[in-house]
Amino acid sequence: MNPRLALAVTAGKAAGVAVRRMGRGGGTALPGLVAERVDPGLVGHLAGQLARGRVTISGTNGKTTTSRVLASILQAAGAPFVHNREGSNLMRGLASTLLGAASASGAIPGARASYGLFEVDEATLPLAMPHLRPTVLGFTNLFRDQLDRYGEVDTVFSLWREALAKAPRDATLVLNADDPSVAELAVGWSGPVHWYGLDDDAFATVAAGATDARWCRTCGGSYRYDRRYFAHVGIWRCRGCERQRPAPDTEARDVRLSLGDASFEVPGVGALRMGLTGIYNVYNALAAVSIARVLRLPETAIAAGVLAAQPAFGRQEVVDLKGRRLHLLLCKNPAGANQVLLLLASVGGAGLKVATLLNDRFADGQDVSWTWDVDYEVLAGCVGRCWAGGDRAEDMALRLTYARWPRCEAVVHEPAALLDAILAGSAPGEDVFVVPTYTAMLDLRAELVARGAAQPFFETA
Ligand SMILES: [Zn+2]
Repeated sequence: MNPRLALAVTAGKAAGVAVRRMGRGGGTALPGLVAERVDPGLVGHLAGQLARGRVTISGTNGKTTTSRVLASILQAAGAPFVHNREGSNLMRGLASTLLGAASASGAIPGARASYGLFEVDEATLPLAMPHLRPTVLGFTNLFRDQLDRYGEVDTVFSLWREALAKAPRDATLVLNADDPSVAELAVGWSGPVHWYGLDDDAFATVAAGATDARWCRTCGGSYRYDRRYFAHVGIWRCRGCERQRPAPDTEARDVRLSLGDASFEVPGVGALRMGLTGIYNVYNALAAVSIARVLRLPETAIAAGVLAAQPAFGRQEVVDLKGRRLHLLLCKNPAGANQVLLLLASVGGAGLKVATLLNDRFADGQDVSWTWDVDYEVLAGCVGRCWAGGDRAEDMALRLTYARWPRCEAVVHEPAALLDAILAGSAPGEDVFVVPTYTAMLDLRAELVARGAAQPFFETA
């Protein structure tokens, strides 16, 4: 027993109890922060006990959903695991999760048979690497995300490169073959790589969308696409050097999307169904399936786990508001927004009712010019009624005018006023699609909770 570790665990747990007594729901960071003060090696000491393997999942979009699908697969396999499920993916959140799993002596019960599953923030990955010492590193994609926070895509890529330089040399990289920026992580990596990708020409698009990977970092050349699915994701090759989309080890084919679910075929695993939809969620599931295969989990558990996976908070949640089905579709950045709009264009039908909510607070990105990188035009002619909400509702409404959407029925800041307008403009039994930025989602959800239509998120998590 390590006395300093035991002291750190005790202090952290005490902080957790104090936070809960004060009624701060979802306070996931403080216990870890306190414990790390006492023992800076805490995360390494605890994570190192998880002997079946430690998985990190990183990427600008989809890491929460990917982690959830993998957790569901581990559950279906009956494999014990520790997971930072509540979504605090910074260092202190990792520490809090591990603390929660440890006994007062600093030992995680059953650790020898357990996995660690860690969703890790882009900028935290280099810091976390020497502590977590992952056996598998999964990466989903690299899009422009929250510009105010990390700057350019190149900054994130450098952070990942820095993380890989600190990663165990025999760890397996699980990489999205269809994203040339993610694929580039394999350049110079001497350990094993497991590739995943999509092979379905039904989803090829000619729309350019927001492209965040215009240049090859190896030679400076531009990419050309034999097939582009969305943004810079597709079957690519570099015009300047030998690099091209690697052949996937795990591949999705015959994708079928509907409003509430999706199915696809993975050779070697079989036909998979899930209660998540959108081509982006097919990629998330495929990342989870690939990691599960690297961990040698049984195919039956993979199929059952994918089927049982639930959408993460605010991502494809359906809320009943006086008989209307409100589909909450969180958009964090241009790429995420484009994918949601493509989904609505392909499966939403005609006469869509859509509310778009734009905030410009820190977590949303304070520069709203990103809305001009979003292809709202794909829904011109499909939208029957629309509403604009959030702190920057007027900017949103203006953007939609340029996209040739009908005039907004309401342009309001307050979530309560928005919901009233939606109720006035829709009938029971109808679907209404709500597309908010992150803090606009939080505000709207708070109003839905106040009206008894939704549960507080820390109770559903
Ligand atoms: Zn190149």
